[in-house]
Amino acid sequence: MVLGVDVGGTKVAVAAVEGVSAAHMAEHPTVLSSADALLDGVEHVVRQVIREAGEPAAIGVGVPSQIEFATGTVVTSVNIPLTGVSLRDELGQRFDLPVVVDNDANCAALAEAHIRGESQLVMITLGTGVGGGVVVDGRTFRGAHGLGAELGHMTVNPDGPPCPGNCPNHGCLEAYCSGQALERDATELARDKPDSTLADRLGSDGRVAGRELVAAAEQGDRDALFLMENFARMLGIGIANYVNIFEPAHFAIGGGLSRASHLFLDRAIQEAGARALPALWKRVRVALARGGAEAGVIGAGVLAALEFAEDGDTARSKATTREGYE
Ligand SMILES: [Zn+2]
Repeated sequence: MVLGVDVGGTKVAVAAVEGVSAAHMAEHPTVLSSADALLDGVEHVVRQVIREAGEPAAIGVGVPSQIEFATGTVVTSVNIPLTGVSLRDELGQRFDLPVVVDNDANCAALAEAHIRGESQLVMITLGTGVGGGVVVDGRTFRGAHGLGAELGHMTVNPDGPPCPGNCPNHGCLEAYCSGQALERDATELARDKPDSTLADRLGSDGRVAGRELVAAAEQGDRDALFLMENFARMLGIGIANYVNIFEPAHFAIGGGLSRASHLFLDRAIQEAGARALPALWKRVRVALARGGAEAGVIGAGVLAALEFAEDGDTARSKATTREGYE
């Protein structure tokens, strides 16, 4: 048994993980006042789960940050105060246990691959931003230092809008297929067309919230459907690119925005199918992620098990075959 820790912008979730099952799940609000206070909050929930579930063999941690994987150090962290923190050492000292740290989107992709029993998988998470993870032979692809697979920052239009992420580029996928991008477009359209349904849905902050745009699209509002069409088209362009580069067996779409998939998924798949190389496209399955709310803790736990399994070589060879986790 290992512990999976999912540090989000609003809450910390911890569970005992065996295989792809999570038990004894506990949550605590993320403390954002300082790194030490945040780590105290993490320690509190971890100790609570250890009291109930027993001592784990290792701890895996997913954070919404860029991680230097070899050292477990947070390189950049926009939404939680961990930039520069040696997270692996800090938590390892608090618990006297082996700790491994990764980006949360990498953890979600690893969970999805192991839940589905797929060894070749690409996943994108559509939320406030666009995250992504690439699983090759059952293990996470990270690039040279652990900072790779930033799938949301692929350019889909060189003259597009500024990327809303911590990124100097224009026209990234995140500039089209994120919650921030949808709110930006809906707000602009509402201001341009004061008689529109979207203008009626402007909030007291002068912006159209993503859920308001989704509600308008569900009611058949033409402006809202136009914005969703653009979202779906850009997503399809992104999927075609990822399929051509990685040729995964499975392409998963997760994140909070995937709950509105009835408004974009069919159209995105149509666009991707018209653009991806046919020999690759006919061999890939595209589907919504199964992992759900527990994907973060499960993925962090799977990572810890892969990194610290007692017989590391056996675990590694198992993970490279489909049968290994079915
Ligand atoms: Zn970007």
